[in-house]
Amino acid sequence: MQRDFLWSGAGEGKKDHLIRWDVVSRPKELGGLGFGKTSMRNIALLGKWLWRFPRERNGLWHKVIASIYGTHPNGWDANMVVRWSHRCPWKAIAQVFQDFSPFVRLVVGNGERIRFWEDLWRGNQTLCSQFADLYRVTSVKNLSVSDVLGNSYPLSWNFNFRRNLTDSEIELIQSLMLSLSSVRLSPSSADSRVWSLSSSGLFSVRSFFLALSKVSNPILFLPAKFLWSSKAPSKVKALAWVVAHGKVNTNDKLQLRRPYKSLCPQWCILCKGNGESIDHLFLHCPVTIGLWHKLFNLAGLAWVPPRSFVDMLVIAFKGLGNSLRGKTLWQIACLTLVWMVWQERNNRIFEEKGRTEEILWDLILFYSSLWASCTKAFRGVPLSVLQLNWTAVCAS
Ligand SMILES: [Zn+2]
Repeated sequence: MQRDFLWSGAGEGKKDHLIRWDVVSRPKELGGLGFGKTSMRNIALLGKWLWRFPRERNGLWHKVIASIYGTHPNGWDANMVVRWSHRCPWKAIAQVFQDFSPFVRLVVGNGERIRFWEDLWRGNQTLCSQFADLYRVTSVKNLSVSDVLGNSYPLSWNFNFRRNLTDSEIELIQSLMLSLSSVRLSPSSADSRVWSLSSSGLFSVRSFFLALSKVSNPILFLPAKFLWSSKAPSKVKALAWVVAHGKVNTNDKLQLRRPYKSLCPQWCILCKGNGESIDHLFLHCPVTIGLWHKLFNLAGLAWVPPRSFVDMLVIAFKGLGNSLRGKTLWQIACLTLVWMVWQERNNRIFEEKGRTEEILWDLILFYSSLWASCTKAFRGVPLSVLQLNWTAVCAS
């Protein structure tokens, strides 16, 4: 229930489970939301349903889940994109998928249910990431292993490239063919999935639970103080929290999460160039950095942009002074800037509407003033006065 509440509140239409639940449940200084420890055993139990789903294809429950959510592009699982408005147990189960899937291994039988490029079926990497240059020039991305290799020997190698290969690509394909030369498909047995944490290949709650416990290795989350002492609205703090964890869905992240979709990781919609990483979008993008400069100018400070977005939240800038008002407003303004950049980025992508840097800056001034004026520190200060002169109000 906590989890439903959290992700339906903080997710602004985002569909991925952005931050692992074991991180979320940590104390704030360790990067979580301070809910207190929830049972990892519960997560492990939910994993059981993920394990059973592809194995019980004739079960009524399988059919119900598949008809509501559809099938995952990998052809085994249910679609894990669960809309925030849905209130049902499957949502909690789907959120375990990210923790669950790394422990599942595919075993090739006839090669019909395993995707040649996108699935992890050989070694520790998918072939599409190992041979990205080749994957880029294939015309059909989701071929199965048997589509590519054929059912008989010698292997038939139907790659379906959409153009002739260059010399360097030919070298790549040779090394790919060499690495797969020992693969033997067995037409009489179906492909299967095994659980890598047990010798039997079968899922056990206990093994999953132990693996989850090992994974949770809390380290200090430095931006916590700045973030949680701020008086900005929760939605603004929540966004900054997700960004500081490096988990917001910028294009470079989406590309990693969904390698089968071709996005444009090189493209930042704000400056129409460079890669859209978190550090770029919220700090180094020419548009964003212009806004940061305006903020520091307003405070009368010279500013050298730090290396990363997290540094930005950790470094104690002097800001608007050490008065309660100065600190309150400075924290709110920084977080509002982050929030506004994200709004703008999404507006441009999804609504195809762009605003100028001047308008963005005015909005940052307006919202920061509005939210600050609702705090105790600014009680009795009219919004119109605050909005016009931050430094004077913070000094008084
Ligand atoms: Zn940019």
